[in-house]
Amino acid sequence: MIIKNVGVIGAGTMGNGIAHVFAQFGYNVLLVDIKDEFLQRGLNTIKKNLGRQVNKGNLSQEEEIATLERIATSTEIASLKTVDFVVEAATENPAIKFQLFKDLDALLRAHVILATNTSSISITEIAGKTTRPGKVIGMHFMNPVPVMKLIEIIKGHDTSDETLETTMNLATSLKKIPVDANDYPGFVANRILMPMINEAIFALMEGVATKEAIDDIMKLGMAHPMGPLTLADFIGLDVCLSIMNVLYSGIGDPKYRACPLLKKMVAAGHLGRKTGRGFYDYSKKIKT
Ligand code: NAD
Repeated sequence: MIIKNVGVIGAGTMGNGIAHVFAQFGYNVLLVDIKDEFLQRGLNTIKKNLGRQVNKGNLSQEEEIATLERIATSTEIASLKTVDFVVEAATENPAIKFQLFKDLDALLRAHVILATNTSSISITEIAGKTTRPGKVIGMHFMNPVPVMKLIEIIKGHDTSDETLETTMNLATSLKKIPVDANDYPGFVANRILMPMINEAIFALMEGVATKEAIDDIMKLGMAHPMGPLTLADFIGLDVCLSIMNVLYSGIGDPKYRACPLLKKMVAAGHLGRKTGRGFYDYSKKIKT
């Protein structure tokens, strides 16, 4: 199957990064979001990130221009009709994703693979909303997409071997490293990462150490590039809480219960970098 035209749904944090890498490696991309202003914001981020690659000497100016020329945008899902592959990176809300997959299934040619970048929603459940469960797969890019090498590839219950192979090859063509996993709550990355972050929040709540000390110990002692509390602020505390809830309800083991301090901070609206305050204060660093 030849893949040349790729649809990306959602132009937010992940979607614009996914559009960026597909276009950079020669695919024509149609980026879809619900409002023009979201598409514009996504395109601006892509331009800024491409500019950074050029400044670092990792991309030529010709490649930068060609990459941007390969990205088209639309607010109409119907404009995806002729694409060869779709990656859905819309808001992490089951109702939104289920409806999108129903619509995509009705719209796209029968052989087209539908991938989702979901962090925590069951691939099998999403696939169940379509008439092509063999062609639905998880393609979990890491943030920031243009920088991070891994793509966690998740097989739903009925994902075919052919779909898996095509998706792994596609990931490799983006100079990423795909690693496959099965469809269980949190897959691999978040099942292991989120309990670590949650435990760091328990340690802070119980007064085991200051936030700076917890982050320094994990950074310097485990060679992690970021401490777990800094990382939680980067990911978004609401996202961390919702993934903990998926682990807790999906696996049913109390070891996955979300830390009360995490719940309290989300209730207070301190969601991390995106709101200017999480475990750390970003209010002076927020760009207008
Ligand atoms: P985001 O909120 O930054 O962007 C989501 C975008 O989807 C928004 O622009 C929104 O307008 C758009 N959208 C919502 N409904 C839509 C629809 N029906 N059609 C088209 N567009 C629609 O979210 P994000 O952080 O980019 O997350 C997107 C997906 O990627 C989620 O499933 C999330 O779990 C997953 N993910 C996020 C991260 C992360 O670090 N942020 C990492 C890996 C995976």
